[in-house]
Amino acid sequence: MSKKVLVIGEVRDGELRKVSLEAIAAGKVVAGGGEVVGVLLGEKVDVLVNSFFQYGADRVVVINHSALKSYTTDAYQQALLQVIKTENPEGIILGHTAIGKDLSPRLAMKLKAGLISDAIAVETNGDETVFTRPIYSGKAFEKKKVKEGIIFATIRPNNITALERDDSRNGEIKQLSVEIQDLRTVIKDVVRKAVGTVDLSEAKIIISGGRGVKSEEGFKPLQELADVLGGAVGASRGACDAGYCDYSLQIGQTGKVVTPDLYFAIGISGAIQHLAGMSNSKVIVAINKDPEANIFKVADYGIVGDLFQIVPILTEELKNVLH
Ligand code: FAD
Repeated sequence: MSKKVLVIGEVRDGELRKVSLEAIAAGKVVAGGGEVVGVLLGEKVDVLVNSFFQYGADRVVVINHSALKSYTTDAYQQALLQVIKTENPEGIILGHTAIGKDLSPRLAMKLKAGLISDAIAVETNGDETVFTRPIYSGKAFEKKKVKEGIIFATIRPNNITALERDDSRNGEIKQLSVEIQDLRTVIKDVVRKAVGTVDLSEAKIIISGGRGVKSEEGFKPLQELADVLGGAVGASRGACDAGYCDYSLQIGQTGKVVTPDLYFAIGISGAIQHLAGMSNSKVIVAINKDPEANIFKVADYGIVGDLFQIVPILTEELKNVLH
């Protein structure tokens, strides 16, 4: 049965985030030939409607409101509940991002809907929608079947492939006015930390450093490798705790969960809590001077040796090959 599915877009730096494009593809599967409706919230966000259409949305609901300029739980929740009430969808999909993780349980509770969080795949089987999600820190996968009620899910970035961009596509745009009131939080200013330019959760290539890099300075060769590959720099908690880098780079059980195409673990021992955040990466390369390091158990390629010798050589070689 075809369904109407809302895909809630997330805007960052004036663009629709990649995970939102992936959510459109997931929405298409859930809709089963029905209508995929993109939802754009913000202030002056109309310019982004085309991205929704190019990647497969049939219609876009736009909500411009000064209270939606920066994310706050209250304002976004209020606005989205009004969209959901107006559109009455059978499915809702959004990214499993910091915003998605904050919003989705609140919306699900208000809608009295179940929530499938952190899905990495979606398919349909007759009248069932089946989501796959990792459990036990990525050591196993479970299938969640939804047969009735609102199909509500968040999807993990970098797992569901967005549709091929098609500039010839367009669709209907609907402007919706919403009432937003009694806000408990007001954002006065947003100050960005000066960290890497590539978003870790959506990066295709991640170069992570651990306590083995030994200092803040020790991250420099890793940043150079990341620059050559167009990747993002990540870290173990060991490196963050030691003060070598910012906690926003931490990958693992209590950090970010990532699934890039290529993950470098450099000077990282491979503690279970670190593996929880990266072991589902498609290809893992480990560089460690200890041949017994646990990280080699999950690595596809391993290099035993001193990272300060190996990483610069690797960077030079890749520079020659890629540029
Ligand atoms: P270490 O274990 O000290 O490993 C350093 C590695 O560098 C060693 O293997 C060593 O051989 C290698 N090395 C040293 N010098 C060189 C060199 N010159 N060249 C090459 N290799 C070298 N950890 C996370 O990462 N993410 C989490 O989210 C996280 N959450 C946690 C939650 C809880 C509740 C707890 C208890 C722990 C958590 N941890 C987490 C911490 C985790 O248990 C480990 O302590 C941490 O991952 C270790 O970081 P590391 O591998 O960088 O350091």
